[in-house]
Amino acid sequence: MRIGIIGTGVAGSLLAEGLEGFDVTAFERVAPGDQAEAGTGLNIGPNALKALRLNRTARHAALRAASLPWQRWFIDLADGTRLFNLDLREVAEEPGVRIRWSELYRLLRAPVAGCTRSAHALEALEEDAAGRLVPVFRTPGGLVRDGGFDLLVGADGRYSRLRSLAAGEPEGTLLGVCIWRLLVTEAGDCPYDDYGQWFNGNARLLSFRVPGGAVYIAGTFPLGIDRQIPDAMKTAAAQRALFTPADAPPCPAVAWMLAKIDAHVAEIHWARSAIVPVLRHALDGRALFLGDAAQAMVPTLGQGATQAVECGVIAANVLRAGGDAAAVATARDQRVEFVRQFSMESSDTLLPPVDVQAGTAKKRQPDYLAKLRKLYTEVV
Ligand SMILES: Cc1cc2nc3c(=O)[nH]c(=O)nc-3n(C[C@H](O)[C@H](O)[C@H](O)COP(=O)(O)OP(=O)(O)OC[C@H]3O[C@@H](n4cnc5c(N)ncnc54)[C@H](O)[C@@H]3O)c2cc1C
Repeated sequence: MRIGIIGTGVAGSLLAEGLEGFDVTAFERVAPGDQAEAGTGLNIGPNALKALRLNRTARHAALRAASLPWQRWFIDLADGTRLFNLDLREVAEEPGVRIRWSELYRLLRAPVAGCTRSAHALEALEEDAAGRLVPVFRTPGGLVRDGGFDLLVGADGRYSRLRSLAAGEPEGTLLGVCIWRLLVTEAGDCPYDDYGQWFNGNARLLSFRVPGGAVYIAGTFPLGIDRQIPDAMKTAAAQRALFTPADAPPCPAVAWMLAKIDAHVAEIHWARSAIVPVLRHALDGRALFLGDAAQAMVPTLGQGATQAVECGVIAANVLRAGGDAAAVATARDQRVEFVRQFSMESSDTLLPPVDVQAGTAKKRQPDYLAKLRKLYTEVV
């Protein structure tokens, strides 16, 4: 069986590595060694680490070596009042990781470089006489084809070209919040380390240290009725007003982040949180979708890349055992549905009229912690 993988991000790289020995070719839009588009940092959940520990020992070790452990999750108000403080080991078998995007892509792409054609961006889809899919790629030298594939895997992310060619453009649903990201590289004086969230009303800062002396900061705030991000909000002054408590000074952590926003507002990447409906396969099972291409979700629990890890590892196991796209759906879709619903449920405090203190109190209750335990440990 000839398998083509579109995209060597998280899911695609892990799938290609897991199918070593099979007839696999991966196609990646970016040029070799170019991780420039992957600018910031991320946290990857303990469930992804468990999937790697049980299935890919070398990748697990490489990820640990290139990252800091994600061991704690605390939630404060912007004045420093602590609402929630969880040691992840209470609900997981091992910590997650905090890592830079560029490092994550580098260490996942390295083992599959031999089967990857870089600077190949999927553009169109054709069929050969045997009914096999023939992807058409844009390369620096023009359009190229590489023959027919029995199975084509869309691991090309949230705006999957394969998905739109095979099944039409998916209709996204906006959550109604803006999410921005910033990587601060001169962060020696940062007053915190592990994963924290700071709320002022429903506006939230999220931040943690990543390797190399850098700090990742993400800001979230509710959008108005038309769901657009007003230009007026993309200024340091507007962000300072958003995250400064009305009746108290900001705590040292928030004050530090506000100073970094002042200095780096031009580097901030602005986006809107959205989900798309799950689609695991199309074209009678000849196209299979993994990671964001199949299941883009809200980033609230940090499960996007984490689920892409699970997808890459589990799909490789299923295909190695002779399974098809429908078998991957059986192995993945119930789990993904649980994670998507739990991520939405956990987004409650990002939107009015939910009161942050009451919403956070719910996260200390046994039923929420039981769901976290299921999320972090029940990896197939
Ligand atoms: C603001 C924000 C914060 C986030 N934070 C976290 C977090 O902390 N933790 C977490 O787990 N997740 C996080 N996520 C989610 C995470 O970014 C994604 O879920 C994850 O990258 C999906 O992995 P993937 O393998 O499906 O796709 P990607 O990692 O996006 O990889 C897709 C690959 O396909 C390639 N490609 C794209 N189009 C083509 C084409 N036409 N032809 C060939 N190749 C192509 C791309 O170059 C890329 O290499 C966040 C997302 C956002 C927006």
